[in-house]
Order: sequence, then C-alpha cells, then structure tokens
Amino acid sequence: MSFTAQIKQELFELNISKMCCKKAELCAIICFGAHIRDNCLILRTENLSFANHISKLCISIFKKPAVIIKKATPGLYEVQIANASSLKIVLNTFGLVKNARDMKNFVSFRIPDKMIESQCCRRAFLRGAFLTAGSCAEPEKRYHLELSTNHFMLNRDLLKLLEELEVFGKVITRRSNSVLYLKGADYISDFLGYTGAMKAVLRLEEIRVTKDVKNTVNRKTNFEYANFAKTLDAGNAQAEAIRVIKNSIGISALDENLQELANLRLKHPHISLKELSAMMSEKISKSGINHRLKKLTEIAEQIKEGKRK
Ligand SMILES: [Zn+2]
Repeated sequence: MSFTAQIKQELFELNISKMCCKKAELCAIICFGAHIRDNCLILRTENLSFANHISKLCISIFKKPAVIIKKATPGLYEVQIANASSLKIVLNTFGLVKNARDMKNFVSFRIPDKMIESQCCRRAFLRGAFLTAGSCAEPEKRYHLELSTNHFMLNRDLLKLLEELEVFGKVITRRSNSVLYLKGADYISDFLGYTGAMKAVLRLEEIRVTKDVKNTVNRKTNFEYANFAKTLDAGNAQAEAIRVIKNSIGISALDENLQELANLRLKHPHISLKELSAMMSEKISKSGINHRLKKLTEIAEQIKEGKRK
C-alpha cells in the first residue's frame, strides 16, 4: 500500500464524534471534490472506503442516506446528494451558497470562516481536504505532500489556514490545477499530525531518524576521508623533502635523532603521525614527530636555496 493510501485508510478509521468536526470534514470534502450537475451534488472516487466514509458523514449530519452508485466505469464510485432541496440544505449548512438564484453558480468553493472557527474543526477540515485532494510521496524517497484542486481560491484559503498553524507551503499551477505543496519532513509531519494520522506521523519520524543516521555516517566518512587525503598530501611532501636531502647531503649527514624518522617517512609516506611514532625505536610523541618532520622540511628548503651543503 502506498504511503498516501495508508494515511487515508488511517483517516477513514478515526472515530470522530463531534458534530462540528464532522461538518468541517464534509465541508472540505465537498469544496475539494464535489461538482454540481442537474441540481445534484456529486462526489466521485475510485476508493470504495472513501465513498462509504462520505455516505456515513452525510447520514450522521443530515439523517438522510446519500446514494452510492457504482458507475459504469469499473472501479469509479459516485456519492450523490440528489435533489434541489437537499442540496440547498447541505450547502446552507456549510455556508457554501454563493448565489441562490443561479444554480449554475450556486456554490462558493472557498473555505467558510464559520467552518473553521475552532481548532478541532480546522484539523477536521485538513483531514477532509487531504482525503479528497491529497497525496504524499513515499518518505523514504522524498518529503513531499500536496493537495490539488481546480478551485484556485480554495488552495489560497488553505495556504492561509496552514500558515496560521505554522505550516508553510507553496501554491503553484500545474496543468490548469492549483497545487498546494509542502516540502520538508517537519511541515509534513505537522500536517499529518493535525489531520489525526498519528501512525503515519510515526512512520515518517522513524524513516527520518534512519535517514539522519545514514547522513551522519556519510558526513563522518567524508570527514575521515578528507583527513586521510590531508595525511596523504602532507606525507608525500615530507617524503619529497627527505628525498632532496638524501640526494644531496645524504641522510647520514643529519643529526642522529632525525635519521631514523627520515628513513621511516621515506619508506612510508602514507601513514599517519601516530603510526610513525609507534614505529620509532625511542618513545616520541605525535607532536615530537611533527616537529622533527618540520625540521626535515626546513633542511630540504635550505638545500634547495643553496644555504646548506
Ligand atoms: Zn470541531
């Protein structure tokens, strides 16, 4: 099951008891998903659970069953609120009536203020909106949640509502639809939390932790690699300096305490200071090794400049 389907399934199974919230949810479903045809409000979906969910909400709010018809197209369901008087009652309940005289332009697809007055109803509205128009990418792949509608002002209203909840998204136009999208695990997690899909939130957070651990390991590996590369560069430069000494005055012309280290570095240009120090016959600290290598580099410089023969 896709992550989107999981979220929706979880939302269908929530037990919402408050009437105000049922109304807000159904209002969102109508705004985002309904169209009017011949005085009939129609909600189409391929998901039978969703069709049943809408029907249950309608019965619970209006005490009248909505009709579910399985369409001729296999797998497409329609929920209808089928006569003009029922339609008026429904739209009046939600404050969605724009023009009572003109049935064609009857519905206002904007978020009615009275539907989102309390916090519980805002959550319910988001739930209805996601059920109808939402989708969420698999969080293993990317963090992306979006709501798509052909009612442009509706997504503008929703963007504002989300901003009040400190969830910040963007609205773009895609193929004559308005798409509101959220990026970033934080906002998506908050959004899902508001809708009440807590299992989905947990799954998202789990994946997020796994991803973070992987990133930390990658960062650590990169850091270690960078250090290793630095050791290589430094080691090569030191070996090169010692070669200059060897080919001019000779290693044996050096102070005794430098000879052993010079031979070791020449043989092992790629090992760390710690490893060098472990190979020395006398006990000498890392900084002691570093100091002597600097000295060797200085001697090589002096030879190159003709100051030492
Ligand atoms: Zn409520």
